[in-house]
Amino acid sequence: MPADRIPLASPWTGDDELDEVAGVLKSGHLSQGPKVAEFEALVAEATGSRHAVAASSCTTAMHLALVALGIGPGDEVLVPDFTFPATANVVVQQGAVPVLVDVEPATYNLDPVDLARRVTARTRAVMPVHLFGLSADLDPCLEVAREHGLAVIEDAACALGATYKGRPCGTFGDVGCFSFHPRKVITTGEGGMVVTDDPALAERLRLFLSHGGVRAGGRFTFEEAGFNYRLSDVHAALGVAQMRRLPEILARRRALAARMTELLAEVPGVNPPVEPPWAVHAFQAYVATLDEGIDRDGVVAALRAEGIESTIGTYALSAQPFFARAYGYSEGRLPCSAATARQSLALPMFPQMSEDQVDRVADAVLAAVTR
Ligand SMILES: *Cc1c(COP(=O)(O)O)cnc(C)c1O
Repeated sequence: MPADRIPLASPWTGDDELDEVAGVLKSGHLSQGPKVAEFEALVAEATGSRHAVAASSCTTAMHLALVALGIGPGDEVLVPDFTFPATANVVVQQGAVPVLVDVEPATYNLDPVDLARRVTARTRAVMPVHLFGLSADLDPCLEVAREHGLAVIEDAACALGATYKGRPCGTFGDVGCFSFHPRKVITTGEGGMVVTDDPALAERLRLFLSHGGVRAGGRFTFEEAGFNYRLSDVHAALGVAQMRRLPEILARRRALAARMTELLAEVPGVNPPVEPPWAVHAFQAYVATLDEGIDRDGVVAALRAEGIESTIGTYALSAQPFFARAYGYSEGRLPCSAATARQSLALPMFPQMSEDQVDRVADAVLAAVTR
C-alpha cells in the first residue's frame, strides 16, 4: 500500500485501547462482565439515557428491540428505503413486514410526508435512521408515531454524538440503537448498544439478550426463548477507551468536514452534505451528492486512480433483489431514494485524517467532475 493512499475510514486506536484490552486479558474475565457494565454506563451518560444495554452489533441491538417491543407476524414497520439493509432485515427476521418510505434528498433521511402516507391499520412501529451521523427531522416523524400509537426504534448506528434540537440522537424513541463497527463514530471491532429510559423495557432487553434466563439463587429459570446477543468484556474494553476519545473524535470529524464542505462548495455539480439548524452532525461518513449527469461510479474510479478510496452513500433497499422479490418493489416507486442511491458519493472521513489529505480529496473530486 503506497504511503499516500487515503482510505475511506480508519479506526483510531492507540495505547489506551491496548492497555484496556490487556487489562481484560489479565483479569481472566473475558465474557460479559465489569467492562461491559463500565462501557454501558459511559454510553448512558454520554446520551443522557437511564439505561444502556450492550449487544454484539447494532443489528442484534435492533432485533432485540423489536422482540422486546413485541413486534411480530402481521405487523408492519416503517423503514426508510435509503439505509443499510440491517434496518429492514431485522423486521423481516421477526416475521413482520418492512414498509419502505422515501427519503428527503438533502438530508438522506425519512421524508415525514411519505411516512404519514404509508401508515395502515397494521403499522406498529417506525424506525427513523440518522444516516451518516445526521439526525432525521424527528418532530414530524414523532408526531405521526404519536397520532397512530406507533413504537419508535431509532437506528442511531451512525449517530453517537449527534443531536436533534440540542438533545442526543437515540433518546427520542422508545429505544435508540448504536453501532461500534470500525466504520462508525467509535469502534469496538464489532458491537452495539440499545439505550432507553424505560426500566421495564430495559429489563426485557436484558432478558432476551441472554437466553431468556432469569437468575435466582445461583440458578437460571428460562422465562423466554432468548438469544445470545451479548458483547464481551474484550470488546467493551475497546469501547471504554474509545469513549474517552469521543469528544476529540467528534471535534476532529466536524472540523475536517467543515473544511471539505468549504472546498467542495466551489466544485460545480457537487452538493456537500447539509447540516440543518436543528442538527449537530457527527459525520460518521462524509457523503455528497453529484448532480444528475455526473457519472458517480466514474468519479469513484477516478479517485481510486489517485489513491483515494470512495464509495456509494448506501443502498436503496427497494432495488435490492430480496425486497423486490419478497414485496414486489420496483425501480421508481421511491424516486428520491433511487436518485440518491445513484448519485451519492462517500468520501474519506476519519479523525486522524490530515488537513492536507482533505485538500487532496477535494482537488481530486474537482479534477474528476471537470474532466
Ligand atoms: C452500520 C449500520 C448498521 C449495522 O450496524 P452493525 O453494528 O454493523 O450491525 C445499521 N444501520 C445503519 C444505518 C448502519 O449504518
